[in-house]
Amino acid sequence: MNNEKIIIANWKMKLSLAETLALAENIKTKFQGFSGATVGVCPNYISILEVKEILKGTDIKLGAQDVFWEGAGAYTGEISADMLVEAGCEYVIIGHSERRKFLMVNYEMIHRETKAVLNNGNLVPIVCIGENWDERKTDRRDFVLFDQLQQALSGLDLVGNQQVVIAYEPIWAIGSGTAIEPSEAEYAHKIIKLTLNDMFGMKIVNNNFKIIYGGSISSKNVKGFVGLENLDGMLVGGASLEADEFYKVAKALVK
Ligand code: PEP
Repeated sequence: MNNEKIIIANWKMKLSLAETLALAENIKTKFQGFSGATVGVCPNYISILEVKEILKGTDIKLGAQDVFWEGAGAYTGEISADMLVEAGCEYVIIGHSERRKFLMVNYEMIHRETKAVLNNGNLVPIVCIGENWDERKTDRRDFVLFDQLQQALSGLDLVGNQQVVIAYEPIWAIGSGTAIEPSEAEYAHKIIKLTLNDMFGMKIVNNNFKIIYGGSISSKNVKGFVGLENLDGMLVGGASLEADEFYKVAKALVK
């Protein structure tokens, strides 16, 4: 796997279709000539096809915010990995904490979704993990991260160079306006790396996995995260809703 950093925008359900397309246009313009990192955007489902058209001819990757584990059938409201690939997606966020909180998504479901994406083979799963404030306060973070990784990934086979991105997103930092201390992120990423090494072996982890941080990253605090060990990029929510701000975050990471 190359060592390029990866920066993914998660636009959640924050923008209308028109606002999404305008932002995609602005990001396309802003990122002209940008290099040194993989940049991707995850719009809502209804915008994906039009965003794909806007981003045609650029290096900006397209992603989705969720996926269902079955390939096709009577699953009202769901979208399969094959459909996402057909629509032009290369990445998909799996098990975001907002889905865990509001839709009761659990790690058994996250496991199935990740398995479906790996079986598809043409999508990179961005698997979200992270402790809540109570778990952090009571010093259970390490176990929570270990347990979430075990539940999400145990028994899954990685074929060839299939990439997997693990997004460490402490739930208490998401959307709070305050990122965690970079040293704390570095520590959590080390726990994640060691757990993955245990599960898959160092060679596969070095070749196939990236570990990224998400939670209130902005152009103001991103510099503290530059150069951290085991930090391969960022999942960016709020700061990705404005092209200039998203560009500054991306630019800081490749310096
Ligand atoms: C997210 O929800 O994935 C996220 C990183 O959001 P924010 O940057 O707004 O905290």
